[in-house]
Amino acid sequence: MAIVRVALPVAADQLFDYWSPSGLEIQRGSVLRVRLGRRRLLGIAVDRVEATDIAPERVAPVDEIVTALPPLPADLCELARFVSEYYQQPIGQCFAQLLPPLGSTARARTPLADRYRLTAGGHAALARHADTRSLLRLQSVLSAPEGATTDELRRFGAQAWRTFGVWRKQRLVEPVPEQEGIAPASIVLNVAQKAAVIEATTPMDRFAPSLLQGVTGSGKTEVYFAAVARAIAAGRQALLLVPEINLTPQLEQRIASALPGVSLAVVHSGLSSAARLSRWLAAARGDAQLVVGTRLAVYTPLPRLGLIVVDEEHDVSFKQQDGVRYHARDVAIYRARLRDVPVILGSATPSLESYAHARRRRYRWLKLPQRAITRSVLPSVRLVPNRAADSREGLGAPLRQAIADRVARGEQTLLFINRRGFAPSLLCVACAWKAMCRRCTARLVVHRDAGALRCHHCGYTEGLPAACPACGNQDLLPLGFGTQRLERALAELYPSARVMRVDRDSTRRKGMFATMRRAIAAGEVDILVGTQMLAKGHDFPRLTLVGVLGADNALYSADFRATERLFALLEQVAGRAGRGIMAGEVVVQTDFPDHPLYVALVGHDYDGFAETLLAERERLDLPPFAHLALLSAEAPGREAVTAFLERAVAHARALLAASKLRCEVYSPVPAGLARRAGLERGQVLVQSSERSALHAFLPRWRALLERMRQQRVRWVIDVDPLAFA
Ligand code: ADP
Ligand code: ZN
Ligand code: ZN
Repeated sequence: MAIVRVALPVAADQLFDYWSPSGLEIQRGSVLRVRLGRRRLLGIAVDRVEATDIAPERVAPVDEIVTALPPLPADLCELARFVSEYYQQPIGQCFAQLLPPLGSTARARTPLADRYRLTAGGHAALARHADTRSLLRLQSVLSAPEGATTDELRRFGAQAWRTFGVWRKQRLVEPVPEQEGIAPASIVLNVAQKAAVIEATTPMDRFAPSLLQGVTGSGKTEVYFAAVARAIAAGRQALLLVPEINLTPQLEQRIASALPGVSLAVVHSGLSSAARLSRWLAAARGDAQLVVGTRLAVYTPLPRLGLIVVDEEHDVSFKQQDGVRYHARDVAIYRARLRDVPVILGSATPSLESYAHARRRRYRWLKLPQRAITRSVLPSVRLVPNRAADSREGLGAPLRQAIADRVARGEQTLLFINRRGFAPSLLCVACAWKAMCRRCTARLVVHRDAGALRCHHCGYTEGLPAACPACGNQDLLPLGFGTQRLERALAELYPSARVMRVDRDSTRRKGMFATMRRAIAAGEVDILVGTQMLAKGHDFPRLTLVGVLGADNALYSADFRATERLFALLEQVAGRAGRGIMAGEVVVQTDFPDHPLYVALVGHDYDGFAETLLAERERLDLPPFAHLALLSAEAPGREAVTAFLERAVAHARALLAASKLRCEVYSPVPAGLARRAGLERGQVLVQSSERSALHAFLPRWRALLERMRQQRVRWVIDVDPLAFA
């Protein structure tokens, strides 16, 4: 009897055996429906075997083959196995990531576009009957060539919104293409760009990783496009991975204009199930020539894959921090190796891991040291004191003056502060009470507009207290600055300026971010206050000043990667200034102007800074010179967590003593956030200077942990962890 080994999306790290009824043509990679207990699950046939250890009467049959999907290609199955083994994640869940959503395809609706206008047919049909005033208004805003945003339309009320829905169905209205009318720019690559394209993609049928290190605006994106064009010209498909925040309509627009006629499939988790399925199929059939997407797109089936590009390879959003822990950049590199194709990692500030590889010539190292547009130069960076006597609402005189100049000249300013809310904490000046979350070891953030205190870790919310709950004093002081407080201060300091705040709170409503971006591009905003949402991927030609506040916080961080990340973030924010032909300036308020990070930032000297950091990491035996894995555990009680982790450490030490593998296991410690959402959290770090030793140790250790079966303790292993919170 033929037995099929099936990967199922469950937490147990095992495959499940089913028998294959005659008549079912099950191949490796076939997508199947099976029963597990009472559940019906989708699974993937991983293997066929002749016999199983399970008693015959307990082996169930495969119910059916899912014919809507082709069998998964062998390289993807191998990729899932790799992720499971390398990252120590349950095999079934790794395979499950390969599948597109198969859900309710029939009911999936077309997502709303940002902006609509009447079609020619719409103009004709509606000319005849306009009944109520609100419908007339609806019709008139939609008549304009630039149309109206869905947000504007919603404001006309429920009746008008319903009518708009009917018009959409009747195709009397159509989406307005973003940035319509901008002619495709025909760009001639400069010498450095051409060299980068050739070096990175020659030969096309060999695995070769390249690090493309180019300052912001140096034309890396154009290099990606040219490399993609080469792959497509050779009859291959290309995969371009971008960080979550970079996947903007602007990028799609650029691709459409740089690679006209190329069939593009954009993949991200925000799409409807139906859209994801149809794009997945287009890629699997080989119809899509270019797939662009966020980290999950690394698992897209591509029969003719010829090139992988990872843009902003240092970005932490490539690491999945929940569910299956994997790093899409590293999975992409492995996939390129499996398929024997080139892979390009691009960044202005490469991760130290990639930088070290390039330095040791394991990656080709391609550099674009200058901005591509000749008249555009990197912004000048000025460090100014953070705490000056003349500060007003956290803004010192130099920054205030710089903003005033821009406002007077009609140029835009971006004030960057990586904290949303009004103030990061609330303090009683009489007894030093601080508002803390009840469920986390974290301070509550003041959200003045909402009249609330909020926890940014678990979402817990309570009303702003009128008096101190500890001593009754009414003098409660919001400490520090967030985007909301800055927004208010700016409105008072520059009454004539139009101020806009862009953070997760102000862009919560669907389509809001797109609307704001358009307003900024159209020059309807003078001063922007924003978090890292604005740091990347946006090109605002009128923006000539970037002010940075509160960056020093990262210098106190316990995370050894904090300064590496801060530099990357600041260089990226700085890169927003002077993207056009107007020179840009960056003003950073800091108490530590001599810190090597700021000195390097002033000189835009990432290499110098990276060398300093690498020397430090080598001295302290930290990545990329050491390899890490983190065991994290959480439970309602602290004792349960500690007991579990202590036993885990005892097991680990016994195992290491017996095997002589060279790994170091540290004692259990509370996580950076020791309690989150009511759960106590702790962790154990494992370190080795030999990757092979770490990877020989981890599966054995995990097998022991699986057998411990601690009630109520949830645990997970994170290989190459990026977060220790
Ligand atoms: P990066 O991705 O490195 O930030 P981009 O590829 O976005 O840089 O290029 C920055 C700007 O320079 C864009 O407006 C782009 O159109 C322009 N650009 C890039 N390469 C060239 C070139 N060879 N000639 C003219 N303009 C270029
Ligand atoms: Zn008090
Ligand atoms: Zn909380």
